[in-house]
This record gives sequence, C-alpha cells and structure tokens, in this order.
Amino acid sequence: MAHAPQRFYLELEPPVEELRDKPHVVIVGGGFAGIKACKAFKGADVRVTLIDKRNFNLFQPLLYQVATGLVGLGDVATPLRLLVGAQRNVQVLLGEVSEIDAAAKQISFNNKTLAYDQLILATGSGSSYFGHEDWRGIAPPMKILEHASEIRRRLLMAMEQAEQTPDQGERNFLQTVVIVGGGPTGCELAGAVAELMCNAMAEDFKQMDLRATRIVLVDPGERLLRAMSPELSAAAAKHLQSAGVELLFQGRVKEIVPGEVLIGTPDGEVKIKAANVFWTAGVKASHLGKKLQEVTGCELDRGGRVIVKDDFSIANYPEIRVVGDLCSFNHTADGKPLPGMAGPATQMGGWVAKDIRAKLEGGSQAPFSFFDFGSMAVLGRINAVADLRGLKFAGGAGWALWALAHLAFMPDDENRITLLVKWLWAILTQQRSDLIITGLPSQHVGLEGSDAPFPMGQGQQPSFAALDSTLEKAIENFKAGASGSSPVEGTAA
Ligand SMILES: Cc1cc2nc3c(=O)[nH]c(=O)nc-3n(C[C@H](O)[C@H](O)[C@H](O)COP(=O)(O)OP(=O)(O)OC[C@H]3O[C@@H](n4cnc5c(N)ncnc54)[C@H](O)[C@@H]3O)c2cc1C
Repeated sequence: MAHAPQRFYLELEPPVEELRDKPHVVIVGGGFAGIKACKAFKGADVRVTLIDKRNFNLFQPLLYQVATGLVGLGDVATPLRLLVGAQRNVQVLLGEVSEIDAAAKQISFNNKTLAYDQLILATGSGSSYFGHEDWRGIAPPMKILEHASEIRRRLLMAMEQAEQTPDQGERNFLQTVVIVGGGPTGCELAGAVAELMCNAMAEDFKQMDLRATRIVLVDPGERLLRAMSPELSAAAAKHLQSAGVELLFQGRVKEIVPGEVLIGTPDGEVKIKAANVFWTAGVKASHLGKKLQEVTGCELDRGGRVIVKDDFSIANYPEIRVVGDLCSFNHTADGKPLPGMAGPATQMGGWVAKDIRAKLEGGSQAPFSFFDFGSMAVLGRINAVADLRGLKFAGGAGWALWALAHLAFMPDDENRITLLVKWLWAILTQQRSDLIITGLPSQHVGLEGSDAPFPMGQGQQPSFAALDSTLEKAIENFKAGASGSSPVEGTAA
C-alpha cells in the first residue's frame, strides 16, 4: 500500500517517534462509528488522526432526556480525548472538515490540509425540513446537544410564562406542544414531555392546571414506530394516549408560523395553536457526502447518503471508506439499506478498521454482516417497547431491557453510573433536577457592569427572564388571533 507524502502533524508534534512512517488513517467524525473504528486500531501498526468539529462524543439516543430535564448535558456527552486520547497511536484534533481532495489524498480543516493513506468518513447526519428551512427556527429539531437544551429552555419558558398569565386561553396555548414525527425520537420526546409537564412538575406550578397540558404527536403514516411490528406500535400508541398525548395520524405539516401549525389530513386541515413545536421528522446525511460526490463522482441516495461498496469504499477510491449514518449500505439479504442507527454505525466502524488492519498485514477478513439486536423506544418513566430479534416486550420489561442496552452502549463509565442513579431517583421520586433555564447568549446581556459577556445593543432591555423572540412572536400571534380568551383550536376544518 503506497503512503501519502505529507506528515504535517508529526512534523509539528510527533506523538510517538516510531509511528512517523506508519500508514496514516484519518477518521473524520467521533460519533458511534468513528469512535469504534478508532478503538479497533488499538495496538495496530498505524497512526490514527481523529478529527471532529466538537471535542465530545454525543450519545444522541438520550437527547430527549436532556430536553426534558431528566439528565444534564454532560451526562450524555463524553470528551473524545477521554475516550481515545490515551491510545498510543491516536491523535485527536478539533476541526470541521470542509474539503476533500481525493486525487491528492488530502482533506482540509481549519485552513490546513492533512494527507491520509486511508480515510474513514463518519460525519453522521443532520435534520431535514424537506425544503422548508424557514421552519427550523420556529420548530427546532433534536440532533445536537444545543438543540436539546434549546427545547428544554423553550418548554420551561412557556411554563414560566403560563404561571404568571391570568388568561386561561393563553395559559392553555402556552401549555400546548406539537411534536412532528412519530418515529422513535418523536415518541420518546412526546412521552418525556408528558411526564415532565403532567407529573414531574405537578406540584411546582401553583397557578396552572397541568392536566390542561396538550401534547399532540403528528405523523404522516397510519401508526407510530413504523419500523416495529404493528403490535408494538399499538402498545406504544396506547401508552402515549394514556399519558395524555394526542395522536394525529395521516397528518402532513403544511405550514408553521410562531404559535401555529397547519396540518393537512384526509378529513381537511387542522390548525393547532401551540407555544412550542418540535421537529423530529426528517434526516439528511452530512454535507461531506455531497462534497465527496463532487470530487469522486460517487453515488448518493435521496437522503444524501453515500452508496458504498460491500467494503464501505467507493468506486475507484479503495482508500476512502464511508460508514455510519453517512453511508447507504445495501449489501443486505433483502437489498434494503441498513437503518441510520447506532447499532449499524458501531458495527460498520469496527469492521472497517479491522479490514484496513487486515489488508495492511497482508490478510483479509470475512465480509461485513450486520447483527441486528433489534429496536426499542422508551415511552414513559418505566415504560418502553422493545423488539429483540422477534421477541417483543412492552411496559416495565421493555424499559428494563432498554435501560440495560443504553447503559451498555454508553461509552463512558462515569456517565453510565450517573445515568443509572438519575433514572432510579426519577423513578422513586418523580423529580428531575436538570431544569435550569440558561437561555441564549443574547439573553445574557443582563449582567451588570464589566461582567457583561456580550455588548448591549442600543435600546435593549436585557434580562435573564426575557422571552426569546420566537415565544414572544408566538404569544403575539396567539393574542392577535384569539378573540378574548378562546380555547386552543385543534379541530378539522
Ligand atoms: C434524538 C436521536 C435519538 C436517537 N435514538 C436512537 C436509538 O434509540 N437507537 C439507535 O440505534 N439510534 C438512535 N439514533 C440514531 C443514532 O444516534 C445515529 O444513527 C448514530 O449517531 C450514527 O452514528 P455516526 O457515527 O454515523 O454519526 P454521529 O454519531 O452523528 O457522529 C458524527 C460525528 O461527526 C462529527 N462531524 C460532523 N460533520 C463534521 C465535519 N465536517 N468535520 C468534523 N466532524 C464532523 C460530529 O460532530 C459527530 O461527532 C438517534 C438519533 C437521534 C438524533
């Protein structure tokens, strides 16, 4: 295997001298796939550079718990250096890869170029609004840590506002949440929001009747969790409905403005006035897939995922592998691409690293075959549905399996212990402590004197307790549309 010539990081800072001339593997993305690949190179005769635009690995499956105050930001994120920094042949660099020069075998980040012998792209996916980018600010997605804390902030700000609003109609509006998308993320968020607003905070707000809380889960299909069996979908629907979540099937969002969602259904349009709308409906691959297509002509699927060969490489570039959510791997028994989930991403990352090792050592390994453990979704404090290779569980048993699986997947021991303690505490007390409103940087201008971290604009009335512009606009729209104190609408027109 020929080696690329450039060795810039070793010239600057050789971490281990004997690795200087070893093949250089660059891994872009320290998520499920990237970290697994990195660890699988432990002890190998290669030097590895892991580049990520964040300095932490994010456990996305628990973001909904951050969004609803059950756990804190640091409980679901682990610094990359803590995970692989001590590995002798790994160097971690913070940077956002923006360009790929496949002919020169180089990538660019932070205005630097870095050469590779082997490149593993594992930059995951983001959210898609199907061409309605203007909805993003009004109805945030839940993909990164900041989204989860923003959802938490918006939920709590609406509750605080409701507590000091005398008008019942306006209070109902502030207590209404619409969640778009009935997949695992939407179901988990809906269940957790119901738990937070109807149970966990039941005694904390004196003015509000928390039973008046309205949570609507909208999905274009005819059932929730379509990747699972109809039986588990029905169990999930039953539990969510008993927790107070309204399910709106065959609903397609047609418009979102602050304070209002317009949904098309077979029976006509439904307009829901809601202070908060959250979006869990669409996924699109990281933009590096498009970049790779521009320079290599590789094929992308409709979601922007790179269609890979059976060894995760692309045509004419055996040294470039694409794994995790960024790839579309359809070398499966039924020809269907593997789903964008943590399990496939982890297994792909590990297999690719082993394949590179085997080839460097002059050997080969068995073709990739995905071992499907199954899927699960948590719906309440001790309620989940799980389908483990045909064995179906719902309720408390489903939750126990869900908890075990998530703790096993969590890459860091400290977080594993913290999560277990917080979950058990929440089960016993129904309390949650991560309900801190930290706000947007623009709201931090209320600090006095030289402590103010951001300059104040002229005429601004800064305050930690200020409503952000979306909620302010939502309330404004609600007041303009509401005659007197009319109740929240939500019926088919
Ligand atoms: C809310 C939510 C809940 C989920 N729940 C589940 C679940 O219950 N079970 C399940 O199996 N799956 C679940 N998933 C899906 C699962 O999290 C993903 O499939 C998995 O994270 C994909 O792993 P990955 O390594 O491909 O990408 P990621 O884990 O997303 O990692 C990508 C990494 O690349 C970095 N990156 C991106 N672009 C660049 C760039 N240009 N330069 C440098 N670094 C970059 C990012 O910072 C990130 O660290 C959930 C996802 C979400 C959003």
